[in-house]
Amino acid sequence: MMKENRIHNFNPGPAALPLPVLEEIRESFLNFRGSGMSITEVSHRSPWFDEVINDAVARTKRLLNLNDRFHVLFIQGGASMQFCMIPMNFLKEGQSADYVDTGTWSTKAIKEAQILGKTVNVPASSEDKNFSYIPKDISFDRDAAYVHITSNNTIKGTQWGSFPDTNGVPIISDMSSDIMSREFDASRFGLIYAGAQKNIGPAGVCMAIIREDMLEMIPDTVPSMLKYSTYASKNSLYNTPPCFAIYTVQLVLKWIEESVGGLKKMAEMNQKKADLLYGFIDSSDFYRGTAEPDSRSLMNITFRLPNEDMEKRFVQQALENDLGGLKGHRSVGGCRASIYNPTPLDAVEALVDFMKTFEKKG
Ligand SMILES: *Cc1c(COP(=O)(O)O)cnc(C)c1O
Repeated sequence: MMKENRIHNFNPGPAALPLPVLEEIRESFLNFRGSGMSITEVSHRSPWFDEVINDAVARTKRLLNLNDRFHVLFIQGGASMQFCMIPMNFLKEGQSADYVDTGTWSTKAIKEAQILGKTVNVPASSEDKNFSYIPKDISFDRDAAYVHITSNNTIKGTQWGSFPDTNGVPIISDMSSDIMSREFDASRFGLIYAGAQKNIGPAGVCMAIIREDMLEMIPDTVPSMLKYSTYASKNSLYNTPPCFAIYTVQLVLKWIEESVGGLKKMAEMNQKKADLLYGFIDSSDFYRGTAEPDSRSLMNITFRLPNEDMEKRFVQQALENDLGGLKGHRSVGGCRASIYNPTPLDAVEALVDFMKTFEKKG
């Protein structure tokens, strides 16, 4: 299907970017800030790129209220490479780490640590109910090297509403699909990481926010490119970074800070979008949400129709109506609307209107 216009994009990742960001990229693409070159052509050691990366770091620190103990890093390999970097850097022989299993991505994180022969404990899992909820009242091992959680479960449509008490053990969180979507207290986190392609940019870069004390835990035996300390000591410029991806992240962060007005505003907008969609799903007997209400994600709204045949037609007809990306993950089926930061309220309104029409006409 050839589209002349841009559609409402509910893709899970890579996902929608703010239109003003795409326009700014187009505007400055051939001649970046008077350099006479594209951002894809300037040196990563030039003043033009220095300004981009430093601004992205400064905005991240301001938005998340990070103190001087935190470093903001840009790493390639996606969130998936973090799954192996974390145990390589922070889990020594004779130690163990606690991983909460809330579905697909946490399960993969556990698997990578096990491949490395590390000791992983799973003090809580929601597998008993098909990962449809976030476990509560977990008792963590006080001696664990770290606790790993997935703050938003992109595929199962669940999200931690508040973060668990870990008795001072550093929390590591995969925030790929909800970073910069709300305010939270970052000080208890030893490491936060996020593949950019959901909430804050294009594919090709993973943001890692690491606390100073974590850098001291890293053994010398870890190869340079897999060590957080290499990135921290070189401002993510040890080797050539993904310049264009970082530039786009910088523009998205600028959009959140300057156009949206910060994370409090961003969270209000995200809440409003999710309330609209869940409110409609709850009022209907035709659509059924799959996550338990107190664990629902504000980012990925997963739902089912009465049968798979209808789900197929729903996704197809939605696209014909300029509503794209509504198919659930291939591992779980059903439907999913990903409504990350850049998704405007009017896209969700258009989706709800379409859902009403589809329910009537089929
Ligand atoms: C998409 C996603 C990943 C995988 O990200 P890649 O950048 O493709 O490796 C990991 N964790 C979560 C929560 C995700 O949503």
